[in-house]
Order: sequence, then C-alpha cells, then structure tokens
Amino acid sequence: MQEISSLTLVLSDRCNFSCPYCPQQKGKNVLRIQDITAFLDLLRPRLAQEVWLGFYGGEPLLSWPLVEKTVAYAEEKFKGRFRFTLTTNGSLLKKEHIFYLKKNRFKLVLSYDGLAQKNRDAGSVTTVEKALANLREHYPAGYAVNSVFTPQTVPLLAVSMAEMLKKGHKHLLCSLDTSVPWQNADLTALEGELKQLVSVCLEHQQKTGSMPLENLKENEKKGVFACFAGRDRLALLADSTVWGCEIFHTLLGRDPHNPDYAKYCFGKLADFISGFKEVTPAVAANYAELRQDYFFSTKKEMCGLCDDLESCAVCPVTAALATGILAVLPSWTCEVKKITRRAQAGFAAALGPPGRIRQNAHA
Ligand code: SF4
Ligand code: SF4
Repeated sequence: MQEISSLTLVLSDRCNFSCPYCPQQKGKNVLRIQDITAFLDLLRPRLAQEVWLGFYGGEPLLSWPLVEKTVAYAEEKFKGRFRFTLTTNGSLLKKEHIFYLKKNRFKLVLSYDGLAQKNRDAGSVTTVEKALANLREHYPAGYAVNSVFTPQTVPLLAVSMAEMLKKGHKHLLCSLDTSVPWQNADLTALEGELKQLVSVCLEHQQKTGSMPLENLKENEKKGVFACFAGRDRLALLADSTVWGCEIFHTLLGRDPHNPDYAKYCFGKLADFISGFKEVTPAVAANYAELRQDYFFSTKKEMCGLCDDLESCAVCPVTAALATGILAVLPSWTCEVKKITRRAQAGFAAALGPPGRIRQNAHA
C-alpha cells in the first residue's frame, strides 16, 4: 500500500431519505468515537502529509456529534494534517452546521437533483433548497452540488443543470446512475440533453468567464485509469469493517460468503489492527488488479484494446452493481462514457483557445 491520502468514515448506515437509485442498504450500525480514533492512530505512520478525511453515511448529519468529536481529535492529535469532506443530502443542514464547516475548512458535497429532486423525496425540496441558499450566502466556495440522473430522470438533466448555473453555485457535478440499464432511447435522450447542456454552459462561460460544471473542465491527466481503493485510500464502515473504498461494502458487505468478500475486506477493525502487518499487504495486492485495461464488457470486449482507453475511467464496483462481477462493465456504461466524452470534446472545441468562444459550434 502507498502512503494513504484519503480516508472515509461511514458514520452510520442510517438515512432519512430512500432515494430510488441509492444502492446502500440501510441499518442501525453507528461507528463509535473510540473506533475512529483507534483507526486514525493505527494509520498515523502510513499517512501522507495531507490527508482527506471524509464523513459519509447514510446521512452523516444524523451523527453530527460524532463529526465534531472526530474533528476535535484530529485537530488535537494530528495538527492540521487532515482536510475534511462531508457528503450530505442537505435536508438537515442548518446555518450553525455551515458556520462550523466553514471554520474547519470542510469541502461539502450536497446531493441535489434539480427538477428530479421530487423523485427522491418530494417533501425535501424546500428544505434542501433553503440549505443551498444558505451555503451560497455563507460558504460559497466550500461546497459542490452533485446531481444524479437516471434513465427515468435524464429528460430533466439540461433544464436542472441550467437552473443551478443560474442560481450561481460555484461547483456543480452531474452524475449518471449506470447501475441500472440504459436502453437505446435513454442513450439518445442523454445525448440530446448533453448537447443542450453544452450550449447552456458555453453561454454561461461567455457571460461570466467561469465554468462551474466540473464534468466539462478539461482533464489533462491522460493514462490508464486504476481504481485507488486499497492503494492510497481506506474506508471504515459503520459495521466496523475496513475496506479499500466504501462502495466495496455496498457491493459485498452483506454477503460474507461471496469469495470476493474475503478478497477485498480487510476485516473487522479489531482484526485489522491486530493483523495489520500480515493481512493488509495480501488484501491490498488484490486491489492492485483493478485497472481499466483489465476490465471487460459483458460482450467480452476488453477495455485494454479500446482506442478510448486512456481517456476513460469506470468504477469497477459501480459496474459490478449492474453485472454482479467486479470489473465487468455493462454495455450501456461504455455508451454512456462515449456520449459523455463527445459532449466534453464538443465543449472544448467550441471554447477554443482560452478566453475565446467559436461561433456556431456544436457539441
Ligand atoms: S469506452 Fe468502453 S471499452 Fe473503451 S475503455 Fe471505456 S468502458 Fe472500456
Ligand atoms: S473507482 Fe470506485 S471503487 Fe475505486 S476508489 Fe473510485 S469509487 Fe472507489
């Protein structure tokens, strides 16, 4: 394992929402502060100079006192080594939380689906929009809005993102749920929505000189993608098991008899601590196989032979949520990736050299 630069704490598996696309299983597990401090103390010699410590759930604001206790411990014992992140559905986020997050320089990710939000939790729309307004007013640079679209909600993508651009949020992310099938009609709709979105974004860039939508920012890093789980990151789950990334628990956590469970789970925290030197390297080695050039599609096409290999990145676990097999990708994932890349290329081509927008450009 390399130096660790990212740790995730799944504080609990409780959530006050039941989003239709959320693959997590809910329960009543809650981490204890003594588990968190033991985990951090054990890893101290392996930590990079700067480490992102992420609070995750379920809904982490349901465990707010645990966030405060962990931050207090990290600041006291690790003296500024951690940068904090928190991912929330925003429904419980009050001004006092925002002031605390700002004081501790958190990066917040708030999931809000624009016009599709009512499909997640119709009663939440007003409270989440209020939380977003408070964030925009009191901590504008400290948060990103992540919006998830599914085959059912994709017709709302462009109009939802346009609305959020208009509201003045500084960081936006648009995610597509590929754990469910995308039929040809859905893919056609996606292509149309992204074309519209590119036009809206070009106009926004022209007017404001900025581009809040992270998906369209040029990624200069080219090369074969390798999943970082278990390499430079670890996650402590609410049931006190340790994994290379929290999403492995979503896939395998309730299925201890699956051979992949033993392959990718570092064990319960107590075993992880007692067997750290012996067990960790063997499990970490399994994660090292998760490289994009080793992935296959369900049609048995190999990513390693694809022309787009060096500009493509697929989470092998998200793929397995659809196919049941790690690093085997459903055919629609490939199409979604291609459509997304076409939109990015269209935006970059239309933008031209920095500061100049070509006229009559199409996505
Ligand atoms: S486009 Fe498809 S085949 Fe090519 S690298 Fe991406 S997922 Fe693999
Ligand atoms: S690619 Fe997937 S499994 Fe790997 S680190 Fe990213 S989210 Fe986790």
